[in-house]
Amino acid sequence: DLLERNASARHAFALPDEAAHYVRTVLRLDEGSPVELFDGSGRLARATLTTIDASMVIAEVEAPRSSQRGEPPVELILFQAIPKGDRWEWLLEKATELGVTTLVPLTTRRGVVQLSSERFEKKRPRWEKILAGAARQCRRACIPELRAPHSPTEAFQAYPNALHLVAHLSDDLTSVHRALHAAEHRGDMPLGDAPRPIGLWVGPEGGFEDAEINTLLQAGARCVTLGPRVLRAETAGVALLTLVQNALGE
Ligand code: SAM
Repeated sequence: DLLERNASARHAFALPDEAAHYVRTVLRLDEGSPVELFDGSGRLARATLTTIDASMVIAEVEAPRSSQRGEPPVELILFQAIPKGDRWEWLLEKATELGVTTLVPLTTRRGVVQLSSERFEKKRPRWEKILAGAARQCRRACIPELRAPHSPTEAFQAYPNALHLVAHLSDDLTSVHRALHAAEHRGDMPLGDAPRPIGLWVGPEGGFEDAEINTLLQAGARCVTLGPRVLRAETAGVALLTLVQNALGE
């Protein structure tokens, strides 16, 4: 917000507590150090740290600008059930590094972790902090959005314009490359003047149930393979993000 409101003028402001802590304790910067500030939604600015003490860190900002640095050419929405233990937090970090724009946790029938919306909202600040930290580390202009948990049907309906690819272990061995190539052939390719988002679907540890897969396929999603080995769910999310961007030429 501070980067936005003072877009034209050179101005100084106190960094929020978490950023001040990062400057003082993690980076251990000195007064006079040049830094780059980002607001997590596409504004970047060069700045100089003019005061660093125990109570505050003041930055003098110059030249705020809009940026899409590190953002993929189309919106990439990862629909995935929350895996057990620290695997979800690992996935949040890796998916951010790999360009995900939105994460939609899925409530699937075979999902091991079933969170009530209250518990999810309690955990949200911690998870958003992980997303922000990963975006800062990989120098993206935007922090991915974490949506509330959805059932597969609700999640699909929330993104009717997306091209939906479902990672699924089946006899259909359509690669991500082939699925995107076929979409281009049909005139469905998500790039161009009005790029369509791409939905990337990954099942829980026990896989999607047939009924869930059939509902997605009937709604227009396509199944893709991630190769001949069964990947853990969080590995599958990372692999699917990588393959989609590779197929897009990124
Ligand atoms: N026993 C489960 C099954 O047969 O579906 C294994 C599920 S796997 C651990 C978790 C999810 O990762 C799957 O639902 C699928 O979305 C994805 N996945 C893992 N390996 C895959 C592969 N080789 N091809 C496509 N999807 C894969």
